[in-house]
Parts: sequence; C-alpha cells; structure tokens
Amino acid sequence: MPDLDKTNAELVARSMSAVWHPCSQMKRYEHFPLLPVTRGSGVWLYDNEGKGYLDAVSSWWVNLFGHCNPHINAALRDQLEKLEHVMLAGFTHEPVVLLSERLRALAPKGLGHCFYASDGASAIEIALKMSAHYWLNSGKPDKSQFISLENSYHGETTGALSVTDVALFKDAYGALIREHATVASPDWRNADAGESAESYALRCAEALERHLQRHHSKLAAFIIEPLVQGAAGMAMYHPIYLRRARQLCSEYEVHLIADEIAVGMGRTGTMFACEQAPANPAGAEHGITPDFLCLSKGITGGYLPLSVVMTRDEIYQSFYADETARGFLHSHSYTGNPLACSAALAALDIFAQDRVLAVNLERAAHMNEIVRPLRNHSSVCNWRNTGMIWAFDVDTQCRDFALRCFAAALEKGLLLRPIGNTVYFMPPYVIGREEMGMLVNRTLAVIELSEKWNA
Ligand SMILES: *Cc1c(COP(=O)(O)O)cnc(C)c1O
Repeated sequence: MPDLDKTNAELVARSMSAVWHPCSQMKRYEHFPLLPVTRGSGVWLYDNEGKGYLDAVSSWWVNLFGHCNPHINAALRDQLEKLEHVMLAGFTHEPVVLLSERLRALAPKGLGHCFYASDGASAIEIALKMSAHYWLNSGKPDKSQFISLENSYHGETTGALSVTDVALFKDAYGALIREHATVASPDWRNADAGESAESYALRCAEALERHLQRHHSKLAAFIIEPLVQGAAGMAMYHPIYLRRARQLCSEYEVHLIADEIAVGMGRTGTMFACEQAPANPAGAEHGITPDFLCLSKGITGGYLPLSVVMTRDEIYQSFYADETARGFLHSHSYTGNPLACSAALAALDIFAQDRVLAVNLERAAHMNEIVRPLRNHSSVCNWRNTGMIWAFDVDTQCRDFALRCFAAALEKGLLLRPIGNTVYFMPPYVIGREEMGMLVNRTLAVIELSEKWNA
C-alpha cells in the first residue's frame, strides 16, 4: 500500500480533496487538520510517523477490546475463508443463527427475535416501523406517534432524526422530519438544589405519566437511551426512571424502545443497561424487559457495521400470518452479514473467556481512585461515572472549547472528543492501569492549559 508511505501532510491534503468527512465543518480542518492513522493496537492508534494516541473514546464508542484484537482478527480470517456474504431473505447461515441464539440468552428475558441491519440509525428505523406496524396489525392504526426524552439522540437518518432532540439538526432538517413530543430528561444535573437524583427521576416519571395519560391513544412507543444519554453529553440518571417508564408504558399500552446502541455490550457495567432497573420494587433478580432492544456500536467489538433489534414473541407473532402485508416490510442489502456476525460472536467469546464484566468492575474502581486530582480541579464540575463511562463539565468561557481541547489532547498523544464543555472517557475495556494513569495525567494537563483559552 504505497499511500501509507506518503507523508502525513500529503495524505491529509488528498483526503481534504476527495473525502467528505462526517460530523464536520470541512473548513475547520484548515486550522485543525485531519489526523492520518496507519495502525492500531490495544488502546493505541498510531500515525505514520509512529506517534501513538490513546483512544479514550473507543473511536466513537464502538471499540471494546482494543484495535486489531488478535481473537477477533482470527475469527474474521476464519469466516473470510468460508463465506463473505449471502442475502438473508430466503437464506441463512451459521454465524447469524449462533449470534441470535446467544443474544437471546444474554438479553433481558423475553426478547426472542433478532432483526438485523448495518448501523445504529437503521436499527432505530426498524424499531419505530415495527412498533407502528404492530399497532396496525393489532387494529389500532392511530397509534403511530413516538415520544423521546429531551436532548435525546437516536441517529441521523430522517426517521431517527424525528425522535432526536438536537437543536442544530432540527434547524437544518426540520422540514424533512415528523414532529414529535419530548418529555423531561431525568439527567440529574437538572435536579433542584438538595434534590437527589432518585427524587428527580421520580419527578420526571410523573411528567411522563401525565403525557401518557393525555396522548396514549396516539402513541406507538416511547424511545429512550437507558441510564446514559450519550450524545447529550453523557447525561446520567437514576435507574428508577427506567423502572417507572416500563410500568407506565405497560399501563398505557405504549411500547418501550430501549436504544442501547451506545450503552449496551457492557458499557454501563452490566451487559445491558436495562438490567440495572429492577423489574419490581422488591429488587427482582432481573431487570426490566423493553419491547424493543436496539444494539450496534460495540456489538462487533468495533470492527464492522452491524446492528440488531430484538423484540418480544407477542410482537413477532402479530406479524406471523399468510398475508405479505402483515409481515415486516424492511430489508438492507447487508442484513446479517456473516463477517460482521462472526466479529460479534468473537466479541461475545471474549466477554465470557476474560470475565470482562467482573474485571471492568476492578478497572472502574481503580480509575475512580486515580482520577481524584482531575475530579478536584477547580475548573471541573458535575463529575459522573456509570460503568466504563466517565464524564465531567468544564467551567470555561472558551466558545471553541471542544475543538481546542481535542487538538490539545492530540498534541499530547490522547484522543478526547468533548461534547460542548463536557469531557468524557469511554475507553476500550482492555485499558491497563498504566494507560489509565496516562489518560488522567494527560487530561489534567489539557484542562490546565485550557484555563488560558479566552472566549
Ligand atoms: C450512535 C448512536 C446511534 C446511531 O448509530 P449510527 O451507527 O451512528 O447510525 C443511535 N443511538 C444512540 C444512542 C447512539 O449513540
């Protein structure tokens, strides 16, 4: 691959000319140039001059077990020699069957059926369509609207945007999307002074109940990011909200869609975030079961695009009939791709073999010890942690904070990607103690530097 031998500057110039990068104002790259990456290993990414960058955001929250993980690499090589792809309509293959069975065994009880797509936004489209189509099949065609939390993020295709509450997107694409209502987010940063996260969550659940009382006859589903609203800036909330949401949705006959695209696959400390909301007040041994569970991002360990929507038997059965039109009308060319499913199976192997959830508890405990100097820094507020996610807000006047922080961190060999004034860590699970130390020290150095940045 001769391109990789070129200098960084030349590759960047060619990328600027030929590639339109996502989530980017391309002109900003004039001042904050693209970083060419040539290889990865563990938590590290390397540019072609050999400089390493600690990937503290798991490359947009997808990587679980490090870059170029030997076990996943081997599983992919093995599958590559057998079958790269076959359409899933009318055909099946071992990786997709095994993956569906293993996910069913791991997921909250009752989610027995897996529908696949290639990315998170498509999983959301599927869940929304399946929910509305279920109500149609059940003789309730009026139940076709959705609600989400304030500051929700569920992806950027037009259907997913219609349940996403981000002002920037609404301003640009409002004309293309369907109106939807939002209910108060239980994000504990919005609690009154002296009010606990739990009381605030219960207060928000009352607002949800009032909304459901009034609108349930038109509502298909309530879609939610369980425990952590990622793109909102790692907004965290008390699990009691999820329990109440489950009860209220059942009571008012509205589906609950759990978007675990970012928080699933162990990120919040349990395999799925829903597990942390006990199904009944006595603290049942299992958590709530949503009507739909959407997974993507980490599901392949960060290797290949794959998403899945899991749903309950009763919903599946409402589509099972002789008429074509009652069936679920949805497909993607790469639905259930065997390579992606093999990567996902390899990732599940690692969870089991390396006792990942148990070891992550120790990792998180160690991290919580060593972050103290950062946590106590005078510019740092709203420190928060759920499982393998840490976040804090920076008290700064700098309007370009996110971009300057990103650039300053890169300079120090660290990949941070703040959301507004929120800095967060969402590292691959293979991060070692020494690397955690580097992460904290380098971040502290960047925060100290940021005190000199003006508005
Ligand atoms: C990333 C994300 C999505 C969208 O997934 P894509 O693969 O980027 O389309 C949806 N919901 C949540 C909570 C996400 O974090």
